[in-house]
Order: sequence, then C-alpha cells, then structure tokens
Amino acid sequence: MVMYDFIIIGAGIGGLMAAASLCRDGKKVLVLEKLAFTGGRYTELSYKGYEVTTGSWTSMGIKSHIGRFCEEVGAKVNYITLRDRGQKHQPAPLFKVRFNNQKEIDFFKPLTLSETGLQTESFFQVLMKLIAKNTKITPETSSRDIVEEVTRNETILSILDHMVGTAAGLNIDTLPASELRIILRDVLKTGGKFGFPVGGVKSIIQALERVVLAHGGSIRTCVGVKRIIIEDNVAKGVELETGSTLDAKNIIHNAGAHQFLKLVGSKNLPTDYVRYIKHLKPVDCAAIILGLDKPVTSQCAITIPPDAERVAGVFSPTFFDPSVAPPGKHMIDVFIPLQSHNIKKEMELAWNDLYKLFPNLESLIHMKREMIFYKDWPGAESGQTFGQVGDQRLDPESPIENLYLCGMDCKGSGVAGDLVPVTVQLCLQRIKEKDKKIRVPSIAF
Ligand SMILES: Cc1cc2nc3c(=O)[nH]c(=O)nc-3n(C[C@H](O)[C@H](O)[C@H](O)COP(=O)(O)OP(=O)(O)OC[C@H]3O[C@@H](n4cnc5c(N)ncnc54)[C@H](O)[C@@H]3O)c2cc1C
Repeated sequence: MVMYDFIIIGAGIGGLMAAASLCRDGKKVLVLEKLAFTGGRYTELSYKGYEVTTGSWTSMGIKSHIGRFCEEVGAKVNYITLRDRGQKHQPAPLFKVRFNNQKEIDFFKPLTLSETGLQTESFFQVLMKLIAKNTKITPETSSRDIVEEVTRNETILSILDHMVGTAAGLNIDTLPASELRIILRDVLKTGGKFGFPVGGVKSIIQALERVVLAHGGSIRTCVGVKRIIIEDNVAKGVELETGSTLDAKNIIHNAGAHQFLKLVGSKNLPTDYVRYIKHLKPVDCAAIILGLDKPVTSQCAITIPPDAERVAGVFSPTFFDPSVAPPGKHMIDVFIPLQSHNIKKEMELAWNDLYKLFPNLESLIHMKREMIFYKDWPGAESGQTFGQVGDQRLDPESPIENLYLCGMDCKGSGVAGDLVPVTVQLCLQRIKEKDKKIRVPSIAF
C-alpha cells in the first residue's frame, strides 16, 4: 500500500496552499475533497454565463497574504488592480459610501457631512487615524471603543459598522479592536495594488493546483473522509466514506473545526479542546449574486451602504474583470451578515435594502442567485470575535501526533480568507519543527 508523506483533508484554499508548499519540497502529497470541485468557499462555478462565487469574491491582490503566499510557492496569478482601473496616476477608489438617497461619498475626497466636525478629512484619513491612534487595547476592547476615540458621528460609525460587516461578517461591537486594527492595516497596505484575480478567485485555486500537480502531488475530488485513523494518539491514515483506508505519515485537516471533531472523535481529544470547538461562535451570512443589464454601482470595488439594515457591502467583480459575466452584462455580489436564523425575513430585509439603494434594480436583473452560509456550511465556524481571535484560535499542531490543522479556524488574524495563509504558514512552521527540510513561505508584505 502507498505511504503518503501527507494526506490533506479538504481542497479549499488552505489545503491547496499547504499541498503546493509541501509538494515543492518533494513530499508525497494527496489532497482529498468530498465535493465534486476544488476550492471550497473560494472558487466560482459557471452559471448562465456568469462566474458565480461559492463564497469569496476576491483576494486583495499581489500584496495580500494570499498574493504573497502564491508568489512564494510559484503559483502564478494575474490581477487587475485599482491602479489598472483608475485614471492617470489616481487608482480607482477601493470603496464608495452610498446612502439610500443615492448620494455617495468618495474614499479620498473630503467628507462633507454637516455634523461631523471632520469636513476637512477624507474617509481614508479617518481610517489612517484609526490605525495610528495609540489607544490602549485589551482583549476586551471592542472596535466601537477605538472608533469612538476618533469620532462619535453616527453616520461615520454606521459606515465603519458596515465595513466591519463586509470584512468579517461582524459589527463594531462584536469585532475586537485588536482585529480591526490588523484588518484595516492589511487592506490599506495593498493600496492601489488591491486587485481581483483575472477570471475570478478560481484562478488562484487553479494556480495552486498546477503547482501541486507539477510536483507530483495528487488531488482527488468526490472523495469524502469518514475518519482519521488514530493509534496510541498517533495519526496513521484515513478511512474514506467508501470504507477503504489510506496510510500517511502526517495528516493535515483543512475541513473546519467541527468536521475535525467528527473525524477524530471527541473521545480522542482533551475535554477543554472539545469544549472550545463545541462552543465556537460562527458567522452566518448570505449572499445575493446578481447579473445585470447595466452597472448600478459607481466606479469602485466595494459599495458600503450605511443606511442598509442587512446589506453590509456590495462587491463589483465586473468592475475589475468583465470576463466573469456574459458580454455586456455586469455582476454584483451582495454580502449579508445574518442577524437571526429567520432566513426568509433576513433575505426580505436584504432585498428591501437593495431596492432602496438602487431604485431601478428590478428592471435590470438578468441572473439571480441567493446563497445561505449557515449550519454545516457557515460563513466561518470561528467568527473573529471575542475569545476567538489571533492566538486564541486553534493551534495548527493538534493534540494528536502527526495530525495538523490549517484553514479559517486556526491561529491568525486578517481579512476573511486572507487569514488562511497565516494559518498555513504556522502549520508549516510546526511541521518544520520536526522536519527541518521543509520550507515555510514568507507572507510578510
Ligand atoms: C459569503 C462569503 C464571502 C467571502 N468573501 C471573501 C472575500 O471576498 N475574500 C476573502 O479572502 N475571503 C472571503 N471569504 C472567506 C473565504 O471564503 C474563506 O475564509 C476561505 O474560503 C476558507 O478556506 P478554507 O480552505 O479554510 O475552507 P473551505 O473553503 O471551507 O474548504 C474546506 C474544504 O473541505 C472539504 N471537506 C469538508 N469535509 C470533508 C471531508 N470529510 N472529506 C473531504 N473533504 C472535506 C469541503 O468540501 C471544502 O471544500 C468569504 C466567505 C463567505 C462565506
């Protein structure tokens, strides 16, 4: 029977990043994915001529953690950046704020809100202040606490609340300040190079797959893992849904914290470890993907709607790359953090928001998909909230020998999927502690 150096469970972006890096180092790697496609919540599926995302709408380009990781492992991705979409030396704005009366605030232009006392500053400058401010932060400090040190203006608070919703599916009361700082810093560092992968985020998945295959690794879809085989607290291999077994020297689990409990079995793990996973607070969210006859958003990557009750942000894939929609059509990806599990009501509120923001929307719709991320397929199992951020998350080295984790639930901070390479990097570092020969890609930018 074949002995793999690594079996990786889950071909999401995390599993494929780990696989690409380890294959480059000559390791015998097999990636197993239960779905019929790779990429998990980080790819697109073709639908009526549109490339409809399964979750993520973009990486943040070459200067993001994802961009740096891909570069380091030789996964070549082309991006269309804000600079490419701007004019002369001015990159296009990352976002605009749009109110229900259709008025808009530009990212770089001075704010003209009457009661702010910040009329001379642009929103960009408000964000810079938030990063620079030396407010003392404890693990209990909320984002609202540090935002209110900079401004108490209700409109600006609402804009920031929606931005937090867009970045993490949370709000300024539930996102710790420590995390907000890192998120803002990481986004602003990408600058004019904030970018969209040509063809959609699946280009990143395909580029990673090419590295895996070019270095002799294997990826198998439609293969669900039923159990991780453990003997004397050491991982030995996996049992598949079909009942057959595969041997490996190491296993990397990239299929979510609850799936980890299921595959390992609670009885094989310490009680406090099991309790931590069982009590994780998830982020449940929804998305509405619309194909349109005409664009409804202005020339920007993200539209933030501070008056909206449910919609946190509206992303514009075709603003960057028209090829992800049929010729002449446009696509928007509306992000909705859920505030209750009454999905029907939540979606009604989201549609109300959209019709107020874009009064002519209904007549322009050419394609419509609603997606709900809840229960077994949540937005994130470990929302970036109090008790679940940075080092409070799961260590990639599990309590079982030769069994590692990476992906959204592991230690790290960042903007949504851009946290994943941070977890993969730490996972590889932990492996390197036992196998000096492997390389750990640098993701600093
Ligand atoms: C609506 C939404 C919008 C988002 N927008 C962005 C964005 O714009 N930018 C960004 O960077 N991030 C974004 N994110 C976050 C990003 O999509 C995720 O952080 C990222 O995709 C997580 O990757 P992963 O590899 O950790 O997990 P996943 O993508 O969930 O991959 C896990 C894989 O494991 C497989 N699996 C599970 N169980 C088994 C088993 N037993 N056997 C075999 N395989 C198994 C699953 O099928 C899945 O393919 C968004 C998320 C959502 C939900």
